[in-house]
Amino acid sequence: MPAEPNRSLEPAMTNTTATTTEPSRQVRRARARAAARTAARITPADESRCLTQTILDAAAATAAAAAQAATLAKAQLAEAEVQAWLKDMDARLQVIFAHPEQNLGEIEEQLARSVKEPLRLLAQRAAQVKANAVLCQCPECHGALSEQRWLSRTLHSRFGPLTIWRRYGFCPRCAEWHFPADYALGLGRKAPASPYVQEISALLVSKMPAEQAVLVAERLGLDLSRCGLHQEAHRQGLKAQQWRSQFVGQLDTWERIQQFARSAAEGPPVEPFTLVIEIDAWDIRERDDWGKTKELREQGKQPERWHWVYMATVFRLDHRGQTAGNRAVITQRGYAATRLGVEALSGQLYREALARGLGQAHLVLVIADGALWIWNLAQDRFPHARQQLDLFHAEEHLWAVARDLYGKGTPQAQAWIGPLLQQIRDDQTVAVIATLAELKPRLLQAQQKKIQTEIEYFEHNAHRMKYKEVLEARKACEEGKATEEQKRLAHRPVGSGAIESACRQYQCRFKRTGQFWTTAGDEALMCLETLWRNGRWHELYPHARSLAALN
Ligand SMILES: [Zn+2]
Repeated sequence: MPAEPNRSLEPAMTNTTATTTEPSRQVRRARARAAARTAARITPADESRCLTQTILDAAAATAAAAAQAATLAKAQLAEAEVQAWLKDMDARLQVIFAHPEQNLGEIEEQLARSVKEPLRLLAQRAAQVKANAVLCQCPECHGALSEQRWLSRTLHSRFGPLTIWRRYGFCPRCAEWHFPADYALGLGRKAPASPYVQEISALLVSKMPAEQAVLVAERLGLDLSRCGLHQEAHRQGLKAQQWRSQFVGQLDTWERIQQFARSAAEGPPVEPFTLVIEIDAWDIRERDDWGKTKELREQGKQPERWHWVYMATVFRLDHRGQTAGNRAVITQRGYAATRLGVEALSGQLYREALARGLGQAHLVLVIADGALWIWNLAQDRFPHARQQLDLFHAEEHLWAVARDLYGKGTPQAQAWIGPLLQQIRDDQTVAVIATLAELKPRLLQAQQKKIQTEIEYFEHNAHRMKYKEVLEARKACEEGKATEEQKRLAHRPVGSGAIESACRQYQCRFKRTGQFWTTAGDEALMCLETLWRNGRWHELYPHARSLAALN
């Protein structure tokens, strides 16, 4: 009996032929199956029996695999597997020895490849043993799960793909299906990455663009796609943001702050120290409507926009030292970075400052350029802090006037500015303002306006311009005549170089040529970067705990 023509294929074909005359792969396969049925004279009844048997066989194989996995109680290699591995390793080494031009690099490479499969098997079995030991109960309410079954999942791991069987069930109280072993193994709900792959994806993509990260990952022995790497890093970024909200929220009430301060004060007494906080902002290029550039431009809209990223750094002055080459280094410091606004920065910075000794510091020093939002933040969060205008910004404002009056780099500009720079360094801001005010009536109207702006800048910041004490202390140190107090003072910064260099470092990743971010994308990755810099990486990746000592 000739087989029925497969009518269900017709609509699919008309769909695919809209763009191409070639039938799709599925259609070609279905046709081949139909032709094979006709040739073998298989009736629909035969076929259905055959299909039933195939399904039953597959179910039996699955049940057998699950049962075998469920009984695994020890992670080890079979003797034959060990022998196969040793043989493989020996063969690889023999090849290297036969090639005198190959060096230790080849030995490292080949041995790493050779050991990958036995490690993969061991990791798979160890994870299975771990999964088997997990009680099948709800991870949220700890109630027993009903309708328990087994299901396997395949993961990307450090050693390649791992297949693990886990028991799962339904929690009637939470009305949800749960895989308790997934929680115990640290796996994402719908993501195939093992915790190590999660970490490496997060680390690489927060340090470099995904297309570079995928190549670096490959050299590290990880077989990941660009898209997979990027998606995993984004997922990790969201996880980091969630962690950060909890961290900031831990101290969101006055009682909790008091409790935290008391616990911090219970430790051994500390030498008096100064806590330095520096704040700044830079802008990032963002866009949302991907793929609609032409459409938006036609409507007279720009697809991209600039958006502020607010940043701060906090460190103890006694954690700042110098390298042998006289370069300033800060051994321990905290960062806060966000594009979610000043309020978000304020919360993150305050929490970071508390963690770095805000409650114990005998002086808190906030250093920044003249931006008003910074001083408002400082007044709000650190009302007892000493505010200091970055010396170089103050000088730059005078240079702008000098250039405007006498031209860039002229001897007249140099002669005019010399005494004023000295006055700033001598805390005589009032004299600087007087000089500018005297100058004003003799200028053209446009220049008068500019001068007035500068006068207001110095008037608003005069109380933040105290540099003399520190600069004199530095001079005394150079001359070897410094008192103990001056030796301490000499280390105090007069500029906001620490935050400016931090901004530049973030920009190396987040502000590359031709780079655009989505709002969600930049905040998530920036959060990862900050977590890494703050030495809290192990909070997301407990297996990386030893790294905590690095910051
Ligand atoms: Zn539950």
